[in-house]
Amino acid sequence: MQKIKSINPATEEVIEEIEVDSLEKVKESVKNARKAFPNWSKTSIDERIEWMKKLIPIIEQRRQELADTITKEMGKPISMSINEPLGVISEINFYSKNIKEFLKEEVVFENEEEKDILVYEPLGVVAIITPWNFPIATVFSPLIPALLCGNTIVLKPSEQTLIVGKKINDLFIELESKGFPKHVFNLILGGKETGKQLVQQDVDMVTFTGSTRAGKEIMKDSADKIHKLLLEMGGKDPAIVCSDADIDFAAKSIVRNACRNTGQVCCAIERVYVKDDIYDQFVKKAVEEAKAIKVGNPEKQETEMGPFVAKFQEEICIDHINDAKKKGAKIEFGGNKAENKGYFFEPTIITNVNNNMKVMTDETFGPVVPIMKVNSLDEAIKYSNNSVYGLTGSVWTKNIEKGNKIAHKLQVGVAGVNAHGGGAQGSAWGGVKESGLGRLGTKEGTHEFTNVKTLRIKKIIKTNY
Ligand code: NAD
Repeated sequence: MQKIKSINPATEEVIEEIEVDSLEKVKESVKNARKAFPNWSKTSIDERIEWMKKLIPIIEQRRQELADTITKEMGKPISMSINEPLGVISEINFYSKNIKEFLKEEVVFENEEEKDILVYEPLGVVAIITPWNFPIATVFSPLIPALLCGNTIVLKPSEQTLIVGKKINDLFIELESKGFPKHVFNLILGGKETGKQLVQQDVDMVTFTGSTRAGKEIMKDSADKIHKLLLEMGGKDPAIVCSDADIDFAAKSIVRNACRNTGQVCCAIERVYVKDDIYDQFVKKAVEEAKAIKVGNPEKQETEMGPFVAKFQEEICIDHINDAKKKGAKIEFGGNKAENKGYFFEPTIITNVNNNMKVMTDETFGPVVPIMKVNSLDEAIKYSNNSVYGLTGSVWTKNIEKGNKIAHKLQVGVAGVNAHGGGAQGSAWGGVKESGLGRLGTKEGTHEFTNVKTLRIKKIIKTNY
């Protein structure tokens, strides 16, 4: 029996050893989800909303326990972890309020002879495969609309956050004790191999959040069965700082964004292009801000940045920094491990960077802010778009109209003006190019979990063929 060690990245201590589910268990889970589908898909939307709402008090009651587990297992500061369950509650409320409108049948054509209607039917079994950086949010963002649309679920959470995965399962066990039908939600535990086994089963859709590398593999593995896919993948997000930016605000926001969750955020700023006339001032402020970040024990309330999730993430970061140094970059601040024990790292500001450095092209997923001087905004836009990724991007300026124009030119899923990352609830989430396929969070995002079927109704029966 294969086991995976769950390791606390702040102490490097083993928290628990968790058994990997067998291929038989993967197959059985998909079969169970398939068996549960006919009844669940026949429930009314009101009934499904009621069940989702019943999850809210269960989550509220376990909020601290969930947050503590996230912090212990992947090192996120407790002040951040505590908000993840709240985000789920807010998503349940959002969908409960809007799902009926999102799934309302729509007459798209009508004349005296024919009426064509779009109807939104559930797909069947949805496999959800998730990463560790937001181990609760990335599960529930697809899970809530998928369940509300009438699908059943097989979840495979990240091998880095298996205990969080088990805690999510506990929420559904408690819901089942209140009458929620069994096997509408199913959990399997394991790593990449288990994920691969799940993708190779007879599921109707795979929703995946994780690296572009794995997303591509999943796409290949889905080819035989033509699974419907929703892929939320990696990024190398650019930020453009204009001459007329509020430099204090921009430097602070950009550095804090880049170092949030130790830089382990898909939409973290990973490249900064600064107009030459404010470059020196911006770098100075960025260094001040990086120095101010409180790195340390993630269980302490005042900590702003915890450790990397694991050694492999630290290694990628060090590799990118060494590559940049070798090619002429200057480390303005940081660049080193922050403690002997645990995977702590210093917030890092790098200048003298160029487009041949990994730190400017590959996803670092670390608290690293490479800053490049540009002569014009056109140059900044060109560099921003010269990437295989296209998740989110931003422009920083006091001139909102100018910012708006530049934001329109960014090849990304979410473009911000004086803001970076996902928008408010109700906006779409997802990337372009190698960052994503499909959207979450809107009417269109909800339709990803349905068969958008056209019903053609001939009102007058006549033989005119
Ligand atoms: P990862 O791709 O290594 O793993 C993600 C999940 O996929 C895990 O559960 C893993 O076991 C599984 N997996 C890996 N290979 C697989 C395969 N071939 N078949 C099936 N399943 C497979 O990513 P990670 O290290 O867990 O997460 C970090 C990545 O996730 C970053 O690239 C980050 O940008 C991305 N991410 C994207 C978003 C988004 O919304 N776009 C959100 C969070 C994280």
